[in-house]
Amino acid sequence: MKGVDVCVRGAGAVGSCLALALARQGLSVALQGAAARPAREDVRTYALNAASVQLLRELKVWEALPADARTAVYDMHVEGDAAGSALDFSAWSQGVEALAWIVDAAELERVLAAAVSFAPHVQSVAEGEVDAPLLALAEGKASSTRDKLGVAMPVQRYGQSAVAARLQSDLAHAGVARQWFRSPDVLALLPFDRPVPSMSCGLVWSVPQARAEALMAMDTATFDQALTDATGGAAGTLRLCGERAVWPLTLARAEQVCGPGWVLLGDAAHVVHPLAGQGLNLGLGDVRALAQVIAAREPWRALGDPRLLQRYARQRALPTLAMGQLTDGLLHLFASDLPVLRELRNRGLNLVNGLPPLKRLLASFALES
Ligand SMILES: Cc1cc2nc3c(=O)[nH]c(=O)nc-3n(C[C@H](O)[C@H](O)[C@H](O)COP(=O)(O)OP(=O)(O)OC[C@H]3O[C@@H](n4cnc5c(N)ncnc54)[C@H](O)[C@@H]3O)c2cc1C
Repeated sequence: MKGVDVCVRGAGAVGSCLALALARQGLSVALQGAAARPAREDVRTYALNAASVQLLRELKVWEALPADARTAVYDMHVEGDAAGSALDFSAWSQGVEALAWIVDAAELERVLAAAVSFAPHVQSVAEGEVDAPLLALAEGKASSTRDKLGVAMPVQRYGQSAVAARLQSDLAHAGVARQWFRSPDVLALLPFDRPVPSMSCGLVWSVPQARAEALMAMDTATFDQALTDATGGAAGTLRLCGERAVWPLTLARAEQVCGPGWVLLGDAAHVVHPLAGQGLNLGLGDVRALAQVIAAREPWRALGDPRLLQRYARQRALPTLAMGQLTDGLLHLFASDLPVLRELRNRGLNLVNGLPPLKRLLASFALES
């Protein structure tokens, strides 16, 4: 196939949003991989920040999500591993509409696929070479084209996995997200409205590999009990709804994100631990940056010009590096058994909690990255 402005390879959330954003500029886009639907439904719920929601609004995707597939987070409560160590954020004190929105991952993919199928300048095409001045790679962390281009992406394996599932509680979530840092586990409960409005939540439980295997093998009643033990009943009595799924956790960053005629976005460029719920937010940040750089290019500059693509690379270098370091630093701080670090991290939580300007800074970083 030939004659398009941009070929986007990979039709996950990042690739689909990029295709829609470029089509809105009047560019013709070939999107590869749109026909490949995952065999199993994604059980995850994504925490999306304000900047990501704004992008989805601009692409007319946000309003197409069913109301119970996007739940606002008004408060966030983070607990350390010593009694009384906690950090609280609220939308009200940050002066924002919501701290984040929890979105159904499978529903987001469905709505994006529908938007792509109706977008006038986007053609879904099969695998193979497409004649286009720019190839945008959004193939996810195992990007084979990135490897073929010879771009190194050193991977740090955490020896941890995240167990994700949907839960139901006997207590209303009231828009509160909760997170427990209990060395070496990190457990997050994200308020959600499916399957039961106001009474559901998404679980992301990061644990050492062997514990993840044990959690996956447990019968439902034992799993529910493990959840109650880990959360101390703070979010009510929790019950598993549906399947569990598990993801190995890594930190990785491509050594180069662009070259003549190609560019990397999303997990193909950077992978972070999900403890801060920022991987897709970073990927959608890539989409915004690349779309802006392309829209602002000089009329004579070709889409695959490395100088143009370097502008994108420069914009994204700091946010992706900073998020990788932040999540990695937090994970190591809370995974350590050293008494001095234990003391430090728990005092640190309380200290930050007592410093509203620092809290505002942390929250605005998470809201906009
Ligand atoms: C447990 C867990 C919880 C998470 N929670 C959050 C959260 O709360 N908030 C958040 O922001 N992020 C979260 N993330 C991160 C988020 O899931 C990823 O950052 C995001 O899905 C990356 O999207 P992507 O489109 O770049 O890659 P992917 O979703 O991996 O999509 C890539 C697509 O490209 C396709 N593909 C690959 N190769 C080819 C090819 N050669 N040709 C055509 N197609 C190809 C793949 O099949 C796939 O469909 C979480 C991650 C995990 C593991």
